Amino acid sequence: MTYRFCMACGGRLRRRLRRVRQEGRERLRCRRCGWIFYGNPIPAAVALVVRGGKVLLGRRAAAPYRGTWDLPGGFLEAGETPEWALAREIGEELGARIRSARFLSFFTETYGRRGFPILAAVYRVKLAPGRLRHGSDVSELRWFSRRKLPYRKISFPSVRRALRLFA
Ligand SMILES: [Zn+2]
Repeated sequence: MTYRFCMACGGRLRRRLRRVRQEGRERLRCRRCGWIFYGNPIPAAVALVVRGGKVLLGRRAAAPYRGTWDLPGGFLEAGETPEWALAREIGEELGARIRSARFLSFFTETYGRRGFPILAAVYRVKLAPGRLRHGSDVSELRWFSRRKLPYRKISFPSVRRALRLFA
């Protein structure tokens, strides 16, 4: 991911190498205001929705990785906790309500091959009864059994790793 302009003042960013104790990390610093872009991850909340021994996957309707299978979830809005974001995303993407959600693990990821960094909190989720209807981010919803998970049609490495918590 390349950032060309300062998020603080709008000025051009210039490459600058800063040394960290363990490893060299390249950072961008604004020439105008001195603000440094640290590349902190964007937080996301993701659901392993389980029912009757199956897990729910959605087919992505947008870039990156359009057409591949993904877990329901999304990025936190300002002021949200991961649990609130999870409930909102489940409503938007599945038309459903959460009955229970239990935190499983964090995963790191990039959004697309050269995308920005993400920190995803993965929850094991049970939905309240009701018919599912997918939102615009998803073209299809499907329940998969452990033995038939479509690993080769999943592009986010963290989603494959999260599914191994279920499988
Ligand atoms: Zn600046």
